[in-house]
Amino acid sequence: MSRQKFIAGNWKMFTNAASAEQLAAAVVKGVAKVDRVAVAVCPPFPYLERVAQVVKGAAVALGAQNLYPEKEGAFTGEVSPTMLVDVGCKHVIVGHSERRHKLAESNAFINKKVHAALAAGLHVILCVGETLAEREANATDRLLDEQTTQGLAEITAEMLARVVLAYEPVWAIGTGRNATPEQAQQAHAFLRRRVGELCGAAAAEKLQIQYGGSVKPDNAASLLHQPDVDGALVGGASLKADDFLAIVRAGIG
Ligand code: PEP
Repeated sequence: MSRQKFIAGNWKMFTNAASAEQLAAAVVKGVAKVDRVAVAVCPPFPYLERVAQVVKGAAVALGAQNLYPEKEGAFTGEVSPTMLVDVGCKHVIVGHSERRHKLAESNAFINKKVHAALAAGLHVILCVGETLAEREANATDRLLDEQTTQGLAEITAEMLARVVLAYEPVWAIGTGRNATPEQAQQAHAFLRRRVGELCGAAAAEKLQIQYGGSVKPDNAASLLHQPDVDGALVGGASLKADDFLAIVRAGIG
């Protein structure tokens, strides 16, 4: 089946008010010449509203990088799913490895975030991926199985329609070392099979699975041409409009 490619930029803790607006404007301009690929940008929280204004009416969706899994309450410093909807977000990234490993987020907590985001009407980009030590110990499949099963606990086929998985091997994120297209395809096919067992084969066939980890203009096409690679979650290269747009174009294939 042919799934639309989906390219999302994770700006992490980069940009400032002015550069976020400029970057978003350049992406909007470039994407106007591209159809058939879905595009999103995920700025830091403080710039969501500004970027929302820039992408309004354009074929660029807005995403957030995180949320707290409660509607409201005494959670100092946190941001709720309804607040994200309120400022114009369509997507939210959940389970990014930087949050799993630097902020010790567990699969159970990530699953709560998935449910809270979906309940608020958001689309979720759920990141999974093994560390180098896990890959070298031949534990990649076990780890992906664990993160997927627990991250998607109690997610029905209907709910899965608003979930995108992002396979992001930790050893490839921000390192300049990407997974080979074969490694990515193998992991994506494994994930699709596993999601099929959890939510049904039909829902798994429709599921978009992005690859993330040092995606650049020069490696994007070979990754995106793999049958189970349905897009990319792009970190570093999403901070340069030209590089990000080149990756978007590679998605047209
Ligand atoms: C990411 O942050 O999700 C990511 C994949 O980063 P990079 O592209 O810089 O490796």
